[in-house]
Amino acid sequence: LTETARVAPGIARSVVKELADQRSHLKLIASENYCSLATQLTMGNLLTDKYAEGFPFSRFYAGCDNVDDIEAAACEQARKLFGVEHAYVQPHSGADANMVAYWAILSARVLTPALAELGETNPAKLSVEDWNKVRGICGNQRLLGLDYYSGGHLTHGYRHNLSAQMFEAHSYTVSKETGLLDYDVIEKQATELKPLILLAGYSAYPRKIDFRRMREIADKVGAVLMVDMAHFAGLVAGGVFEGDYNPAPFAHVLTTTTHKTLRGPRGGAVFCTKEFAEYVDKGCPMVLGGPLPHVMAAKAVAFTEANQPAFKEYAAKILENSRALAEACVAEGMTIPTGGTDNHLLLIDVRSFGLTGRQAETAVRRCGITLNRNSLPFDPNGPWYTSGLRVGTPATTTLGMGPEEMKEIAAVLKLILSNTKPETVQSGEQAGTPSKAKFTIEPAAEKEALDR
Ligand code: PLP
Repeated sequence: LTETARVAPGIARSVVKELADQRSHLKLIASENYCSLATQLTMGNLLTDKYAEGFPFSRFYAGCDNVDDIEAAACEQARKLFGVEHAYVQPHSGADANMVAYWAILSARVLTPALAELGETNPAKLSVEDWNKVRGICGNQRLLGLDYYSGGHLTHGYRHNLSAQMFEAHSYTVSKETGLLDYDVIEKQATELKPLILLAGYSAYPRKIDFRRMREIADKVGAVLMVDMAHFAGLVAGGVFEGDYNPAPFAHVLTTTTHKTLRGPRGGAVFCTKEFAEYVDKGCPMVLGGPLPHVMAAKAVAFTEANQPAFKEYAAKILENSRALAEACVAEGMTIPTGGTDNHLLLIDVRSFGLTGRQAETAVRRCGITLNRNSLPFDPNGPWYTSGLRVGTPATTTLGMGPEEMKEIAAVLKLILSNTKPETVQSGEQAGTPSKAKFTIEPAAEKEALDR
């Protein structure tokens, strides 16, 4: 950082402070990890200065030979890792990957047939009237994905995301009784709605998904099965999700981030069957800005790492740790929605401590642990305050922690949460009721948590 400090000392200081923060706080954010030094260093070089719109060996810019090799290598490693027909590694993030996927599915299944009916293949040649007709058909399609409160992502049709503008977005929820997906209910909903896309995948669902069943439902209603494995791609790559729980053989289109359980650089990717390949490859410039060659190089490095046997061990340990953590939390008397976990994350319902998720998140952070508040299914506290915490084990597993450390973490979480009390609202309409944001922590408990 010497060079950075010479030019912009404040930025260098923030980078060092961030390093100190990540070292001094226990990282339990389910969507974060620590990528390898090889992956990190691959991002810091002159590849960032290259433009490479288009796709390998078919670019709109000159001088892309090295980027071609890099991107082709990343795609090859990804195909091997997930056993997929086609890979596209340009998306800058998971959200971008989903937009590329949506557009590719619309293009393959709606736009291209609509153009064919008009006797045209090139949309640029249509009259404004014809183009508006085609746009109308595209805009009328339905998306059926997991509800935000049940653990779905914003990009799965939430109203505050472009996906809800692109589609008539509908959602399925988990069962109120069990907190689990109910495939019969999803099938019934899909049969009624006949969506273009049936979307599976989550940000905060602590269980496995039966992708064979989801594909059967999609086939029954003529939908494309899209799976967003942003959170659990590392568990797929590492063989933890096998058979019916591995989405790769069942999804028409798979999207992912590369920086969560997969432990690569920050970014996204789309994988698909041959049917969608040419449309996915048009992600840039159709949906995305120019690719980031330095990040694609780092993706190639991370995928190569994930193709090694050691990554299988890592993935198995993520699950072992999250199960150990969930069991220890239950043993500590905490409420764990669905009673446990099948993946890298678990939820804690903090209402039994009289807290909102927001209070719990801030209290825990003050005691040296970084994790997220999270909405629970049918959450009465809404998406801002929430009633839950989402706890994940990918990063602590990378640090080499095991089940014994998970027990200690559960005990420390219990210590903090049971010694945190909401303040009482002093004025306004809510006066006299417990605050949803302000709280106090018993000082001795805070000190003990920090010491431990
Ligand atoms: N999809 C899912 C399921 C996610 O959980 C996330 C991020 O948390 C995304 C997509 C978006 O990823 P990004 O933040 O890289 O855009």
